[in-house]
Amino acid sequence: MINSGREWDWMDNLEIHDMVGYWIDKLGLTGWTITTEAIDKKSVTYADDVPDSDKYFVGIQIDKESMQARIYHDRPLTDEYVVHELLHVKFPLEQEDWINKVTTIALNNKQR
Ligand SMILES: [Zn+2]
Repeated sequence: MINSGREWDWMDNLEIHDMVGYWIDKLGLTGWTITTEAIDKKSVTYADDVPDSDKYFVGIQIDKESMQARIYHDRPLTDEYVVHELLHVKFPLEQEDWINKVTTIALNNKQR
């Protein structure tokens, strides 16, 4: 769900829905309901030593029981963000390094 009045409203719900649907299918997350929610930049708190360019947030809340997850984002979602967060759903025990590596592999496979 995208709220109105943001600078990146060009990205409509259908576009996000298609992108998320594509990766749900690719990553074999059949049965999962993945929703997205745009959040306000101001609602995220950062440490003082975080540079402005790194002050963004994309994260996912996962409910394994009901097989539902919600991606929160304060910038436009890209394939990279979606794959990264969905890999956390698929492989909940893996660490960031591994997730980042597999994200790159998945994106390369898409472009082929
Ligand atoms: Zn991550």
